[in-house]
Amino acid sequence: MSIIDFHTHLDEAWLGNSLMNSEDFIAGLDKTGVDIACIFTMQGFYEDCPRHNDLLLKRADRYPDRLIPFVTVDPKQGAQAVKETERCLSNPRFRGMKFHSWIQSFAPSMVKETMIDILHCAAEHKVPVLFHDGTPPYATTFQIADLARQVPEADIVLGHVGLADYVYPAGQLLRDIPNLYACLCGPRCGDLQYLIQEAGSHKILFGSDFGIAEWLLLAERLDNVYAADLSPDDLHHVLYQNAARLLKLDQSPLSAADATSIVPKGDLT
Ligand SMILES: [Zn+2]
Repeated sequence: MSIIDFHTHLDEAWLGNSLMNSEDFIAGLDKTGVDIACIFTMQGFYEDCPRHNDLLLKRADRYPDRLIPFVTVDPKQGAQAVKETERCLSNPRFRGMKFHSWIQSFAPSMVKETMIDILHCAAEHKVPVLFHDGTPPYATTFQIADLARQVPEADIVLGHVGLADYVYPAGQLLRDIPNLYACLCGPRCGDLQYLIQEAGSHKILFGSDFGIAEWLLLAERLDNVYAADLSPDDLHHVLYQNAARLLKLDQSPLSAADATSIVPKGDLT
């Protein structure tokens, strides 16, 4: 069965600690049978975003048929953040965006106008936007779900489907908001059964946070999905089909010939 991991991090370091290199990352995917991973920065959440977007693309370019880079921008920068979104999404190798409002130090309501512009830009480029969720005060599941309501044209993904505290309301929000999806990255197999019952298997995507910890984390999170004893159809939706749909893999399959680290520079200062 094909598997897409919709939530991983591939970066050199995290708050001064070294992380795994690209070869070890790919070896981890191979060991666990994961075909494709959406990769996010770590340092880009608290350092210079444009530089880290370019570095992430370069890392993805080493395995263009396996790794899909997601853009990160700092919405506190206003128009500059919208410009950086446009710069990166004009390159079709970037197929999504990632925000971590807790680490990036913004409450969604504090940057609402900019965030709405960014989400419109993502919707125009038809890329999903994943937000870390489940941790107050800046990243509750309710705050992220509200963004999905503000811009119904954008596909919004809860990065952790509420973590421990918000799984129950996350199921209801997924049920009620058509453009809201969730990445099962943290909650357990019983939670997955509940979420599918409440919102349907077309709303849940597999994700692991692999990259900030070794491959055993990815193996454990996959085991969680298998332990939920889903029907073959639901399992295929969660492990592959929903992510493939949001990433437009049918229309634009990944190819080893896709590598390009050429990001238009725009007039960034
Ligand atoms: Zn993460």
